[in-house]
Amino acid sequence: MSNKKNVYHTSIYKEPGPKLDKDSPFESMMERFRFAAEILELDEGLFKYLANPVKQVIVSIPVIMDNGKLEVFEGYRVIHDNVLGPSKGGIRYTPDVHIEEIKALAAWMTWKCAVVNVPFGGAKGGVRCNPKELSIGELERLTRRYTANLLEVFGPDRDIPAPDMNTNEQVMAWIMDTYSMNSLRTETAVVTGKPIILGGSQGRKEATGRGLVTVVLAGLSKLGLMPNKVTVAVQGFGNVGSVSADLMYEQGASVIAISDISGGYYNQKGIDIPAAIQYLRNNDMSLSGFPGAEPITNEELLQLNCDVLIPAAKEDQISKSSADKIKAKIIAEGANGPVTANADTILEQKGIMVIPDILANAGGVTVSYFEWVQDRQGYFWTEERVNRRLNRMMRNAFDNVYGVSEKYKITLRQAAYVYAINRVATTLKLRGIYA
Ligand code: NAD
Repeated sequence: MSNKKNVYHTSIYKEPGPKLDKDSPFESMMERFRFAAEILELDEGLFKYLANPVKQVIVSIPVIMDNGKLEVFEGYRVIHDNVLGPSKGGIRYTPDVHIEEIKALAAWMTWKCAVVNVPFGGAKGGVRCNPKELSIGELERLTRRYTANLLEVFGPDRDIPAPDMNTNEQVMAWIMDTYSMNSLRTETAVVTGKPIILGGSQGRKEATGRGLVTVVLAGLSKLGLMPNKVTVAVQGFGNVGSVSADLMYEQGASVIAISDISGGYYNQKGIDIPAAIQYLRNNDMSLSGFPGAEPITNEELLQLNCDVLIPAAKEDQISKSSADKIKAKIIAEGANGPVTANADTILEQKGIMVIPDILANAGGVTVSYFEWVQDRQGYFWTEERVNRRLNRMMRNAFDNVYGVSEKYKITLRQAAYVYAINRVATTLKLRGIYA
């Protein structure tokens, strides 16, 4: 380990960095970034470089509302890094989105892309608005003007947005159209997460859950466990949780608990996951009243005696106070930041394998990369080909991270950061810094 250890903790990032809650997912991520920098004995200048985004843009977005009045919204786009290639990251529409949050999430995207060897940097964007209060026309005008204000930032070779909180395929279609109108040609590769008919990819919707299951299977094999002999608990039954549960069920695993915002559902004999998915569809996308299991709380679900725990709902679910009660052998983070940094040590002491978010849920960005490749080729792959390539990239990423964890005798989370930061830093050194 480097003797420069405390330099990172005391002087460098703390100064210009955002003042966020110490337990925030971003602070947790920064803690892990500093740790990886120490292991790698990262040059102080490179550390500074990577701790700061390369570009931050704030735009005013005037929109004529349906009542004829002019309203002005604030929008953001932050490119954390673009040394590996064009930057990539979602756009969220939320009432309290803030530039510091966007900076944090952009950095997260840099490490996520690097860990799966996708040739993208990291970015994130947002507009401060409450989409529930906007009509479809207002939403479209807001999206188009946000895009128009960022025409010099976005681009298939520069920066490629994607959906995030409260943005969807339709929003991506408007971004693509606005960008295309201004470039005088159809430019599908400027965004991902588009409808399939507009150049979206087969398999994109299921990609995060599918990628997660690939790394869970790899983790199980390291522990000498057979997928058809294990029990699984899944927190969150949205896109990531339901696909993960379904694919583990297909593997023959016994999914003993699932949950959503309405609560948890437990069946020691295993839940019929296709029936739960059908129930969700028939019940306004809620598991409330699901008959195939008995009700438990979300907290109880996390503490169940099971082999695999998949937190796929939201951040900060397993903290210092609850980590001690976890009994699973593997935790695979479907959500971003479901385990806080101060819970890591406890889970490590308990010998639990934590497959970290930047690896476990990177299947989504991997298939976004495939979407961009297909758009640029103008040649579209079958779902079977998408899934095969996704599986290969996720499996390789798991093996790379596992190898680093063995080399340095560190956790998979620490290894994922070491792998990702090393990849970005090595590229940066080879390219040289234009200073
Ligand atoms: P989603 O909105 O489709 O589903 C979220 C699920 O979590 C729902 O079932 C909801 O009821 C449940 N939930 C919400 N609050 C809860 C709570 N307090 N307790 C228990 N359950 C709760 O979202 P998603 O796309 O599945 O994303 C889930 C997580 O994974 C998010 O953290 C997201 O950032 C992350 N993620 C998603 C993707 C993707 O491709 N969808 C990619 C990477 C990371």
